Amino acid sequence: MTPARRSVFGGLLLAMAFLASPGYAADPSARPVDGSIAISVDHSAPEQGAIVRVELMGTPSPDNGVIHWKGRSWPMKGCGVGCFEALAGIDLAEAPGRHTLTVMASRGGGALRADVEIEVRERVFPLQAFQVPKEKDVQDPALVRRIEAEAKLFRERYDAPPSLPSWGSPFQPPVPGFVPAHFGARRVINGEPRNPHTGGDMTLPAGVPVHSIADGRVVFSGEQFFGGNELLIDHGGGIFSMYFHLAERAVSEGQAVRRGERIGSVGATGRATGPHLHFGLRVTGARVDPASLPGLVENR
Ligand SMILES: [Zn+2]
Repeated sequence: MTPARRSVFGGLLLAMAFLASPGYAADPSARPVDGSIAISVDHSAPEQGAIVRVELMGTPSPDNGVIHWKGRSWPMKGCGVGCFEALAGIDLAEAPGRHTLTVMASRGGGALRADVEIEVRERVFPLQAFQVPKEKDVQDPALVRRIEAEAKLFRERYDAPPSLPSWGSPFQPPVPGFVPAHFGARRVINGEPRNPHTGGDMTLPAGVPVHSIADGRVVFSGEQFFGGNELLIDHGGGIFSMYFHLAERAVSEGQAVRRGERIGSVGATGRATGPHLHFGLRVTGARVDPASLPGLVENR
């Protein structure tokens, strides 16, 4: 993100003085906030790992929209005259029960606000037990330090001030006929419980071209222990896509990419037992199921 873009968003947040307005229960049908603004969500009771689309419609048109979710604010994307939209992620480990998502908009110097109640439902994830060769397992302290340092590089990207949205719906599958497996699997490796699997895997022949799911900017291009050749792309509005185990990376850090652009190819680098694509998604900080993103998996 350029400093200019960051200051635009910072200014937008500062300009927002909240006016008191009633809260509204989540409902698939739109509810008016002040008679001229309507908020709708497509899931009022999403499962862990799901993505909720939030839409704001107003006449006359609001100047902008922002969602506030799980302690952070994310800019909404324009979707036509008087329309703003955002995607909000439900982390795979989010506590089941009621959570509040706040939608804020400003218009002609005035500010509007509505609270949407989201009832998170528990999802049962599969159990995945397998063995990895000892030398590929995480035992030695130097390796543990390396893995921690590598995870920190990703956290820094997620924690940076949000970029303005460059994503567009529908998203493009990273490979044709994409069907991700094992999202959220609770893992037991060599008999020990480990972190859950936070992406979707698809076994593919090495060399299959991999494409960016939307416009964005490459914020990490490098080699790491688990993911091998990895790419992380920021699509703005809190949406990040990641592509692991690539045979090669065709784009470099800082580069802008377009939806459908070839960014690398399937491989088996890092900790992989064979060629496959590991595709992961972060949406508003949450680890979400790739299959819940519109357009990513065919026939959904
Ligand atoms: Zn994977």
